[in-house]
Parts: sequence; C-alpha cells; structure tokens
Amino acid sequence: MADLLLPTNTIVHPDKDRFLHEENPFEAMMARFDRAAELLDLEPGLYKVLRNPEKTVIVSIPVMMDSGEVEVFTGIRCIYNTSRGPAKGGIRFDKNVTLDEVKALAAWMTWKCAVVNIPFGGSKGGVICDPLTMSIGELERVTRRYTAGIIATLGPDSDVPAPDVNTNERVMAWLMDTYSMHVGHTVNAVTTGKPIAMGGSLGRREATGRGCMIATREALAHLGLPMKGRTVVVQGFGNVGSIAAELLHAEGCKVIAVSDRTGGWYSKKGIDVTKAIAHVRDHQTLEGFDGGETISNEKILELECDVLLPAALENVITTKNAARIKAKIVCEGANGPTSAGADAILDEKGVFVIPDILANAGGVTVSYFEWVQNRSGYYWSEQMVNERLTEIMVNSFAEVLKLSKLHKVNMRTASYMLAISRVAMVHKLRGIYA
Ligand code: GLU
Repeated sequence: MADLLLPTNTIVHPDKDRFLHEENPFEAMMARFDRAAELLDLEPGLYKVLRNPEKTVIVSIPVMMDSGEVEVFTGIRCIYNTSRGPAKGGIRFDKNVTLDEVKALAAWMTWKCAVVNIPFGGSKGGVICDPLTMSIGELERVTRRYTAGIIATLGPDSDVPAPDVNTNERVMAWLMDTYSMHVGHTVNAVTTGKPIAMGGSLGRREATGRGCMIATREALAHLGLPMKGRTVVVQGFGNVGSIAAELLHAEGCKVIAVSDRTGGWYSKKGIDVTKAIAHVRDHQTLEGFDGGETISNEKILELECDVLLPAALENVITTKNAARIKAKIVCEGANGPTSAGADAILDEKGVFVIPDILANAGGVTVSYFEWVQNRSGYYWSEQMVNERLTEIMVNSFAEVLKLSKLHKVNMRTASYMLAISRVAMVHKLRGIYA
C-alpha cells in the first residue's frame, strides 16, 4: 500500500525495509510488525486491523505567549489500539514531532503493554513546539489547551497519558487538573507520572531506567557475563539514561561515557555518574561537565563497550553507522533508536539487542501500578513497586528469550511476535462489531 503513495519516479529498492524511508518511525515499526505477522501467519483480517490506528485527533492549540502575541501550535493524540484495555502512552513536546512519529510511538505502546502483559492498549501524544525556548507559563497554557482539545478521548477507562520526551510530573499535574475541572471532580487516574503528592506512584520516576538496568542484567546473565566491571555507554542523559546509568553503576558496571544534546563525555576509568547527575540538576544539561574527555555524539555510539544504552530519540543506529557499533549488548532505553535496516547489520555482527518494547517497558509498568493505586485508593511502598516491577521485567525477558530460541529469531522479532499474538487473540475473542 505504502508503495502506491510514492511519487512514480521513485525507485524502490528490492530490500525496501532497509532503504525506503529508513528514518520514518512508522515504517520502521511496520517493517518489524510485518516480519512478526508473517512468522505468526496472522490472519489477513487481523493483519489489516492491527496495521491501522483506531483514532487520531489533531488539534490547533492557540496560546497567548508572554510577549502578548498569539501563537498556534499543533497537537496530536493517536490511540492505536484499545482491545486489551484503556489506551496508554506518553505525551512529548518537541519541535520535530510528526504524525508518523506519533502513530509509530502509539503502536509501540500497544506492543510494549502486550509484551509485559499489562491490561492496556497503546496511544501517544505530541505537541509540535520548542519547550526549551518557552516559559513555565507558556508551557502550562499549551498543556491545558492541548488537554481541553483532546478531552473527549481522555479518561481513566479510555486513554491515560504519561510523561515522555520534554514533559514531566508538572505537565501531568496541569493535565490532571484541567481534566478534573472539566468533569467537575478530581480524577487522578486520568494520567500517570504525576507528582507523589497528588497520587503519583513511588518509584515511577526511576521505573524506565530501573527496567533498563534489569533487562541489561538479564541479558548479561544470558550471555554468561558478570555485571561487575562491564563497560557501559549511555547516549541521552534525561530521566531514562541518567537513572539507568546510576543503577548500572550501583550494580558494579563501569559507565565509561555519557552524552546529551550538548555533546558526549568519555572516561576510560569511568564517569562519576553521581557528579554528572548533579551537574545536570544544576545546569539543565551536561554542557561544561569536567568529568571526562569530550567526544562527539556520533563517536560515543561507536565506542568499544559491553553495553550501549541509547536513551534519547529515534534513529541513532541506522544503516549508516550500525556496522561500526562495537557493543555486545544494545539496550534500547529510547523508543525506536534503531532503524529496521540496522537490525540486520547488528544481527550479522552478533550484537544482542534488547528491543525498546521490552527494554523500556519499566516506565509503563509502574504507570500501570500508579493507575491501580489511584483506582483502589491504596498506596504501595517503594519496595513493593520495585519488587513487582522486577518480577514483570524478569518474566517478560524470559518469555521473549524463550520465543526467540524456539523460532530462531532475534529478541526484537520475538517480542513483536509475543505482543502481536496477545493483541490478536483478544481481537479474535471480541470479534468485529458490525
Ligand atoms: N513515555 C513512556 C514510554 O514511552 C511511558 C508511557 C506511560 O507510562 O504511559 O513508555
């Protein structure tokens, strides 16, 4: 189908997964989906249903800027699939947000929730804006107007947002307040990743990074490598990367390089992760960090190491650099950091990839715990949250590994197979409403 939309003079390479629109996230998701669907021998009807999002809402967001001028932003919310439960997925604020990216991220949320077997579907939201240049007041007005724009689809039983790139607890507090004002009473289960004081879960902020650490620990054990002394490179030092680095360090790994959008820092004897985190707390970014030699964002990915943890945005490992990746394990803290074409190259090199929909599922898993706590009005200790998170991550890793051995496929294909079969099963049981 997608081919029909191409300009007629476009030459389609036979190995189109590898060369056609490599950096379009929706195509990257679809290439993996198609492969798993083929191996599962998915019924044609189900295949058609699962290739399409259920609903996509696009809203204009007029905002009075601090200057007194009105600016109009575009907001998107894509509900990909709700067969297994309410749609679940974060909201990102970024100047490069696109419709295809939001659709892909919503599909990934669907597969992610199914891989870890939590009773949610998948969704994602994005606002095209540059939050780094906006004031707190402007961000609040964008959040509230975007929430009002998508309010018809939001709700604890229908669609539950969470933080994602450039959004945080504060944004979730505004969203929850706006929704609650509209419906006339406080509804804390409408979003997760909230401040603890208003119903957020203990351990939620650390959950994605903690999940990455657990997945890495399982992968190292599978490869027969001890945690102690393993060298780790972390690309992206936001909520996911910094926490993963801290927890891997605590488990005995040596974090040899870190980076963010301002550049990379390398130290053969190990980066002082606590110092790097303190630097970001005081200066917003790693810029000016004196705990290592500077290194470019491209070169950091190609360092000799045991574990490479991309924890920022999509498409950092593509057909252009995959052959130069030297890590034994790639743990995908970000969503979609590896292109479909790069998968094959990493496979050939024998790199063990823990795919995004498994590796970074710790965040949405604790979001699920938060939603459960909100709905029951009974709050868990941090220890209980972390224990239950560990159990889900360890079991999910084992299930995916078992499937990958059984079907002789890599971990990514195995996790898509597991997810798609779970979602397809529910569709089959529910049938098509006519
Ligand atoms: N934004 C996170 C993700 O991509 C968390 C989503 C959620 O908790 O709903 O997994």
